[in-house]
Amino acid sequence: MLEDQTLGRRTSSFVLQWHLTHACDMHCKHCYDRSNLRVIRLDGALRILDDVAAFCADREVRPSITLSGGNPFFYPWFFDLYREVVERGMRVCILGNPVPEEQLDRLVEIGAPTYYQISLEGLEEHNDCIRGDGAFRRALDFLPMLRERGIRAPVMITLTRDNMDQIIPVGELLRDRADRVTFNRLSQVGEGAALALPDIEEYGRFMVDYMVARESNPTLGYKDNLFNIIRYELGMKLTGGCTGHGCGAAFNFPCAPAERRCTRLPQVSLPPGKHPPVDAWARSTTPTRQRATAEGAPTATGVPYAPNAVAASRSPRGTGSIRSSIAIRTASCREA
Ligand code: SF4
Repeated sequence: MLEDQTLGRRTSSFVLQWHLTHACDMHCKHCYDRSNLRVIRLDGALRILDDVAAFCADREVRPSITLSGGNPFFYPWFFDLYREVVERGMRVCILGNPVPEEQLDRLVEIGAPTYYQISLEGLEEHNDCIRGDGAFRRALDFLPMLRERGIRAPVMITLTRDNMDQIIPVGELLRDRADRVTFNRLSQVGEGAALALPDIEEYGRFMVDYMVARESNPTLGYKDNLFNIIRYELGMKLTGGCTGHGCGAAFNFPCAPAERRCTRLPQVSLPPGKHPPVDAWARSTTPTRQRATAEGAPTATGVPYAPNAVAASRSPRGTGSIRSSIAIRTASCREA
């Protein structure tokens, strides 16, 4: 069991997200890194697996290897490495692009991955503008191939200012085609630096719309930790997910090696008084927040801790419809 003594989190798994290569069959407009990276040879990769296995055995946690890229299938020893992961009894997942059916069958023959995540960037026109002609159709054709083979098929969207209004419609389109639709906010690094993020007010409104849409479409998943600010204010259970209870980086989730830094971290510092959800967090009474404040740690927005009148009047846990709770909450934000 791994335990985070600061936040009190415990986990029985350890995840290595492994960017095996930057080589890719696509050239998306927001790609974070297309540099010509030298890949590790198979013998070196097997030593990494040995290290992960020893680390996990020592801590009594289950190893989980997520193979990514670039397109991980472009790693020269991809199938050899994949077989080694499976034969060592590790959980294996793929973050990649659609591949031909024969390659998928080859994977399944070795051992089906727990999930195979692909990406979309919006509805067909916008998606193909970012990912290339025909990419949308290929993705939609690939999802049933995964599910027919018993592989979970989540879809990830990189949220930008230009596709934010398409995320809920994509979720609707994929309601019965994908196992989960989630998004990450664009990190403005690499070629992604040329794309824009929504402004913070627009994004706050989108989060509320998304939460309402999710009530009738459970395919939409929570990943962005900013949702937890609204959920906390509404007295709702906080979500897990990648960054839900605090990023797993430096806890049970290292990402190696290509990106060189965590691209999930915000690229800008938000000024106080400009963003209701972030300001709410700054004033919130969560244990983490209280601890940080009590210990005199610097705050994210520079707003000193103070009990929050909105938080004090929030709905009791689990009562009332989310729609009316959110409506009340957003009205309070606007009036504040
Ligand atoms: S974003 Fe992903 S799929 Fe697109 S070019 Fe970069 S590595 Fe390839």
